[in-house]
Amino acid sequence: MKNKPVQKQLLKLNDIKLRNTLSLLGVLMRHGCLSRIELAQVLGCDNTTVTRAVRDLMSRNLITTAGKTELQHGRPRELLALNSNGACLIGISLEPDRICGALTDLNGRPKIQERLHLEECRHLQEYLNALDKVMQRLLQESSGRIAGVGVSTFGTSLTPENGILNDIANFPELKGFNLRSYFMEKFNLSPVFADMMICRMHYELNRYPECRKGSTLLVHLGSGIGMSIANEGAIVLSRNQHGGELGHNICEPDGLPCPCGRHGCLETRCSAQVLLRQARIAFASPNMTFREFAEKYTSGNACAVQLVNDVLKFLAIALANQINNLSPDTLVLVGRLMELGERFYVALEESVRTLLFDYTSQPLTFAFRSSGEWGAEGAALLASNRLLANPDAFDRACPKQVKNMA
Ligand SMILES: [Zn+2]
Repeated sequence: MKNKPVQKQLLKLNDIKLRNTLSLLGVLMRHGCLSRIELAQVLGCDNTTVTRAVRDLMSRNLITTAGKTELQHGRPRELLALNSNGACLIGISLEPDRICGALTDLNGRPKIQERLHLEECRHLQEYLNALDKVMQRLLQESSGRIAGVGVSTFGTSLTPENGILNDIANFPELKGFNLRSYFMEKFNLSPVFADMMICRMHYELNRYPECRKGSTLLVHLGSGIGMSIANEGAIVLSRNQHGGELGHNICEPDGLPCPCGRHGCLETRCSAQVLLRQARIAFASPNMTFREFAEKYTSGNACAVQLVNDVLKFLAIALANQINNLSPDTLVLVGRLMELGERFYVALEESVRTLLFDYTSQPLTFAFRSSGEWGAEGAALLASNRLLANPDAFDRACPKQVKNMA
């Protein structure tokens, strides 16, 4: 590979214009419909800058007019919005037992979704065939207007530049696999990679704007347990596009063996998988689903409540430790355990708060998000955020359309 010449980091006039254009696009994506005057107010800039940026974005087919405001006085103002028929993104969420894909607009709103379940699949070729199938379907529907691809990955370590998967305890054949080369050779696309916690945080910040204020600690409680932190809308402490390994915080010295090779990790006590395994034994029901267990718990079944209370003991300590360290304004909880519903939310919040210092408990808001599909959208938002932050990449991915002068 050739080395790029060292370039001085001076902003040229065109760079500044393009950055203004991207700022305006970002505001429009967050707010939905806005008039030119409102855009100037939100951005704190003059009307000429807005006019120039709007013209630029329209020439790239990215925004469009969206009706007019009804004003009591004065002329109605034309509203602008993201063009749903403009450039699109592909988001792919890779999990050991399923692959989800979405074709979305620049705001991660899905137009097409595709999902493949892979029970017990632990073979590389089988996994890649499934990924291929999902990609082909999305590419077919995209009419060639792909502005970016984001991929959410699993495993405990990822090299984001080349997309090499590492330390995948439960899928050894994927270890060391170079995803970037694969996407380049197969689809001529160069994705942005991050682990699922980073993608989930992008999703959170996009869908729940209140999480852009102050600091947010996001914790995923599913078959794995992970975390991510954002401050004022920016994801922080995410070296290599990787969230925190809360699930592998050791909660018991010399505790139960963990797939990571160590002993006593939080996941050995609190993951949805562990809870379900124990429930199947306790209820002598080897095929019980998590949903069936959740129904027993929500209806107050004493055995189910006891099993969840055992999980809560470990979970509350782990969460309280993080909160006392980081003092977040918001704790967002997502993942499979949220299917346990209101009874669980109340019990968890109470158990955590009893372990917090007043100064960390008082400003803290708990937010429980019931399960939903978000992996592929979060991955698409990863690509969207990369475009908004990188004028060169944006210019290449969303070129100005050449007008037919005939
Ligand atoms: Zn572990």
